[in-house]
Amino acid sequence: MLDFQKSMGDRVYAAARTALEARNAPPPSLSEPVLMSLSCGRALWFGVNGVPPRASSGLLARTAEQNRLTRRVMLRDLRRAGFKIEWVGALDCGRIHGLTRRPHLLELVAAPEALFSRLRKFGLGAAIDLEIAMQCRLGLAQMERGLFVAENKNTQELYFEKVCFDEEIFAQVRGRVMEAARLSEPPRGNFDETCPCCGFFRECGKAQQF
Ligand code: SF4
Repeated sequence: MLDFQKSMGDRVYAAARTALEARNAPPPSLSEPVLMSLSCGRALWFGVNGVPPRASSGLLARTAEQNRLTRRVMLRDLRRAGFKIEWVGALDCGRIHGLTRRPHLLELVAAPEALFSRLRKFGLGAAIDLEIAMQCRLGLAQMERGLFVAENKNTQELYFEKVCFDEEIFAQVRGRVMEAARLSEPPRGNFDETCPCCGFFRECGKAQQF
């Protein structure tokens, strides 16, 4: 029974990973805001130096695909609710019209249960990487206001938060990226608790440690 579970899992995960890698050819690059929000200094260095991130397993490839589909449904339902939305592919976000007279930048996130509860209790400030990515998108798009929307992956409940651009956060993050760009090799150390899920896992050489 366990052998069957394993062989089926291996086969389907491998197919998912192959499909993701094929669809992303030529190799994907991280969108600038996501790159800027990487908390690990080594990951930031790989991203700044154009190393393409990879799904380290078929399971992660399936998660990435599921997140993409969830965001597509969120986008569809916002449009059904009467909002006009243009998609800004370069920043991987939208521009939504109809909240006030001015357009807002639109950030869509598929959130696991634990993250969703934190967002509901404490707001976007409880998810620092998401907040930084949002601030970077606002800064790069030169927009003052945004709408952050998260969907609970378990229940499909939605969380909405209006966000104002914070110039100080954007300047700090930009400084960190420029510092990483000046280094001739990745900084030492592991700076991220989600290390095994990182798309630079293989290049980083951390694979042997997990
Ligand atoms: S594998 Fe870990 S240490 Fe290496 S780049 Fe990724 S998060 Fe950073």
